[in-house]
Amino acid sequence: MRPPYLLLDIDGVLIPFPDADGSTPATHARHDVVPTGRSADNPVTVWLHPDHGRLLMDVIRTGLVTPVWCTSWRQDATTLIGPLLGLPPLPHVDLPRPQITTSHPNGYLWKRDHVDAWLADAPAVWIDDDFTSLDHAWAAERTAKGTPTLLVQPDPHLGLQPEHLTEVTTWVSQLPTARAA
Ligand SMILES: [Mg+2]
Repeated sequence: MRPPYLLLDIDGVLIPFPDADGSTPATHARHDVVPTGRSADNPVTVWLHPDHGRLLMDVIRTGLVTPVWCTSWRQDATTLIGPLLGLPPLPHVDLPRPQITTSHPNGYLWKRDHVDAWLADAPAVWIDDDFTSLDHAWAAERTAKGTPTLLVQPDPHLGLQPEHLTEVTTWVSQLPTARAA
């Protein structure tokens, strides 16, 4: 079995949602970035945890997962966000830009159909803050059919916590692919 993909969301995971008063989480550092298609005089302010790059690299260096961005930042994840965390260039799932007003237009995460097709029968651990019960059912069904699938869902107001990555490494270490390695 191939190493599972590690699908990484950004908003609500690496960039937590603002507090009710709109303030930056004290744990995170502010950065201004200019996403593709925006002019340089109209940057977007983001906040990132200075430890997240190291924590993610600890997982990536095990070789037990294949990391891939899976975010509406698309290519900008690789060119803008990753470098701010000290991450090497990672590939990304080339998500479309649907005209939707909710992240769950069909009751489940809008990314999922694209991810499902992109993964085909590859195992995966997917970190995203926005899964619904239908997504968790999808993961359980994939796993039951022999394609191990783990969804890890941080609280979007807190973002990624070290224990989420501990969950990832614990899970992948138990897969047949890890035992054969
Ligand atoms: Mg998100």
